Amino acid sequence: MSATARPEIVVDLAAVRHNLRTIDALVGDDVATMAVVKADAYGHGALEVARAAREAGTPWLGVATVPEALALREAGDVGRLLCWLVLPGEDLTAAVAADVDVTAATTAHLDLLARAVEASGRPARVQLKVDTGLSRSGSTAEAWPALVAAARAGELEGRWRVTGVWSHLAAAEEPEHPANAQQAAAFHAALAVVEEAGLRPEVRHLANSAAALLHPDLRLDLVRIGLATYGLDPAPDVAHGTDLRPAMTVTAPLTMVKQVPEGTSVSYGWRWSAPAPTTLGLVPVGYADGLPRAAAGNDRPGPAGAPAEVEVGGRRRPLRGTVCMDQVVVELGPAGTEVGAAVGDVVRLVGPAPAPSAQEWAQACGTISYEIVTRLGGRLVRRHVDSEEGA
Ligand SMILES: *Cc1c(COP(=O)(O)O)cnc(C)c1O
Repeated sequence: MSATARPEIVVDLAAVRHNLRTIDALVGDDVATMAVVKADAYGHGALEVARAAREAGTPWLGVATVPEALALREAGDVGRLLCWLVLPGEDLTAAVAADVDVTAATTAHLDLLARAVEASGRPARVQLKVDTGLSRSGSTAEAWPALVAAARAGELEGRWRVTGVWSHLAAAEEPEHPANAQQAAAFHAALAVVEEAGLRPEVRHLANSAAALLHPDLRLDLVRIGLATYGLDPAPDVAHGTDLRPAMTVTAPLTMVKQVPEGTSVSYGWRWSAPAPTTLGLVPVGYADGLPRAAAGNDRPGPAGAPAEVEVGGRRRPLRGTVCMDQVVVELGPAGTEVGAAVGDVVRLVGPAPAPSAQEWAQACGTISYEIVTRLGGRLVRRHVDSEEGA
């Protein structure tokens, strides 16, 4: 019972350190680990997670954009840091001045870097990205030799050092998917071009969380760990036994509890009606806070899917009726089985067991846990704790 509890996201930084140390031990001494903290660390708080990652000994951080990288530098991070999304015509001067490794996928990106090198008066660090089959960013195989040659020329002129060569996988969480072997072969072919040109990058990398866990042969020099940093399973359909701890817990107090008779219809559209007398609880978190509207399960076309659940007093309770912008209704139990919950009792929406996992929410919504955690926010207040502090 906590009458003043507010809806919040609680992030345990000890879990982040545990997950990164677990992966570091798994991949061994010859493979470096990068904690991917893009998108505000998948909704967990980039600055705090970055600090926890460094405390855990993680040598690399990765982000998508230049502003994300600069925010980490402004917060005092001085370690190796890679970004991989360059906008057309983007000014990379601050990134070069801040010693950020910038990814180049085209010679246009190298041109932007050359400008930044002149403006900042210091050499850049560049990593070359090749598209091996995701068909997203990355140089095509056709353009690769010219990109590599231009990168080598710039390195010989002292403009930059080519610190890395990398690519990204399309289906690492599906171990039998043919993309994995095809992309690995394409990457090794791209590396042969790099070697041939005389480049000697420090790190060659291909693996995300799922590949780091499931494909030892794809770990190469470095693994880029996003989802697993946060203790979420990047390959929920594959048994791998890696001990990951979810770092995020989302809680809110019950704001109202009411007994209702059989046949009572709930929320917008009356999409759910009580088949028997029951007890409803009101939770002050809605889709404006990132709770997916699709999680109600009853609002999708076709046969009604199972709704997402929350945990109250150690028991799972289903969402009932449509998720609203600011609130959602849960069923605390048909009459006689309710947990005796009262206004002010804490509801755990997402978190370590017995709370539902982000993966369970994803299943209820037909999406992936990445989307669940990155969207949670809105009016939820985020707070960081350290469950090992003083331990
Ligand atoms: C987001 C991202 C990652 C991390 O992927 P996870 O599946 O979360 O581990 C790695 N590399 C790149 C290029 C990414 O964009």
